[in-house]
Order: sequence, then C-alpha cells, then structure tokens
Amino acid sequence: MKADKLVKKAHELANPFRVTSGKNFRLRDYDPGDTLQFDHKDKDRAKKALAQGVQALSLLQDKLYAQDQWAVLLIFQAMDAAGKDGAIKHVMSGVNPQGCEVHSFKAPTSEELDHDFLWRCSKRVPERGRIGIFNRSYYEETLVVRVHPQILAKQKIPRGLLGKDLWNQRFEDIRAFERYLSRNGVLVRKFFLNVSKEEQKKRFLERIDQPDKNWKFSTADSHERQFWNDYQKAYEETIRHTATKESPWYIVPADNKWFSRVVVAAAVIDALDSLKLEYPKVGKTQREELAAAKKELLAEK
Ligand code: ATP
Ligand code: MG
Repeated sequence: MKADKLVKKAHELANPFRVTSGKNFRLRDYDPGDTLQFDHKDKDRAKKALAQGVQALSLLQDKLYAQDQWAVLLIFQAMDAAGKDGAIKHVMSGVNPQGCEVHSFKAPTSEELDHDFLWRCSKRVPERGRIGIFNRSYYEETLVVRVHPQILAKQKIPRGLLGKDLWNQRFEDIRAFERYLSRNGVLVRKFFLNVSKEEQKKRFLERIDQPDKNWKFSTADSHERQFWNDYQKAYEETIRHTATKESPWYIVPADNKWFSRVVVAAAVIDALDSLKLEYPKVGKTQREELAAAKKELLAEK
C-alpha cells in the first residue's frame, strides 16, 4: 500500500474510537467486541494490515528521531488481561529501540508516596525525538484510588486538602498537565483497552488452565472483578473529564486482540502523521561540506 493511502486508512480505522470531548461520553456506547468492517474470517487480512502499519510506524519514528523536536507520549490504561502488554509489544515491534521507551507504573513505593501524584510520571515524560509509553500512569489516581478509598487514606496528603472536590481537582490538574505537555511539543494520546467482563473471565481461566500462562494469573486480579462496575464508572468519569482535542482518548475494543492491535497502530500512525514530520533540511554550507567529505573519501587509497 502507498504511504498516503495507508495513512488515510489509519485515520479511518482509528477515528471511530477517538474521544476529544467528554460531553455526552458514555462508555456503554462502545462495544468491546466491535471489529468495524472486519469479521473473524478477515483476521489474516488484519494481521497483514498490522504488519504494514508497523512498517509505516518505523519510518515515521525515524523522522521523529531525526527532527528531534516533537516527543510522543502514549498512555495505556485497562482492566487486567485486556491486552495492554501485547498491544504495546506488537505495535512497537518495528520501531528502533533507541527512540522508544516503556515505563510501567505499579502501586507507588514509599519514596513515590512522599511526592505529589504526578511526580513519578513527569520524570518519565519522553525527551524530544522519542516515543514514550506509559503502561498505567497517573490515571490510576482517579481509577484504582477512587475505587478503593483506603489507598487514598494511605497517601500522605494533608487531611485538610482531602475535600469532596478532590476528584475534580485531580481531573483539572491532569488536564492542565497534558495541556502543558502539548504546548511544549509533547504529543499525548491515551488508550483505554475496553475489554468485556465475560472476555476477562475467559482470559483468567486460560491463565489458570495453561501452565505456561500460570505466571500471569494473580488471585488479586480476579478478586478485583467484584468492583467491575465501580471501575467502569471511574473510567467513564475519568475519560469524560480528560478527553480533549489536544490529548484525546481512544476507546479501543479489546475483546479481539488482533483488532485492538490494529486500532492502536492506526491511532499512533495518525498521531505521528499529524505532526507533518520532515527530515532536517540541509543548508548550502552543509551540502558543500558533504561534497568535500565525499571527495576526500573517494580519494582515499
Ligand atoms: P501485569 O499484571 O500484566 O504484569 P499490571 O500493570 O497489572 O501488569 P501489576 O503489578 O499486576 O501490573 O499491577 C499493578 C497494580 O498497581 C495495579 O493493580 C494498579 O491498579 C496498581 N497501581 C498503579 N498505580 C497505582 C497508584 N497510583 N496507586 C495505587 N495503585 C496503583
Ligand atoms: Mg496485573
């Protein structure tokens, strides 16, 4: 496929799942099993599309790196077993590791709890020319922390600051942080891998039944299923308050891994294309220097 056709296709694939404003956003309008025009017979076609996408991504990343002006931050959030790790692995499989870094954010350490909630993530924002991936992020602060208020109680925030407006303040601070990043040339894209409760159960059972997947299973994860509805509510509220034009959310249907990977790749291609990246232009003096160097190299014995 020609590059401009591929970019157009990527835009068409990603666009239905993009949320740029929280107004009227409802999670239940998004079907975790959606595969657009593809059906299961098209799985191979989708895999080919992904391979082409990965190749296109690698070319775009090369320009991003060479130009060294923009940075790209991709944030992944999801319920357990939604396929975050696999999506990250597959979509970024073709990119130059030198220009890409992944950071996972687990339950905060005591050092991290000694700081404001954005601290540990802001230290990991990618530098110019790079793609940075957050596997979980500061969004946990309005998700798991909201679902389990006892986590908030353990954060060392002065009591007087824990008013009923806390969540709105966190949303406001996250929006401000992302606006700040975008004004500094860090392009932010956020992905919610939207898996259904039934599919999650299926994947947990696979982790129990297949010995080589046992290591992935944790009873704590399946225990969290009893809070499923609370999480869905927390995700909906979070997306509603933090979807903006400059840093949109993608609600990626995640019940079919082959499809969710295509959508993520498409969204990243679309994002990189929007930057209109170019290799740095070479001026007259530099061209003369190149010509002189060439002459010297050719004259070598
Ligand atoms: P995997 O299970 O695939 O290895 P994971 O991202 O689920 O990846 P875990 O170590 O299982 O990694 O889980 C990380 C846990 O840390 C999640 O339950 C998440 O909710 C929790 N977590 C992340 N950030 C915070 C936070 N700021 N406060 C409290 N808990 C957090
Ligand atoms: Mg886990």
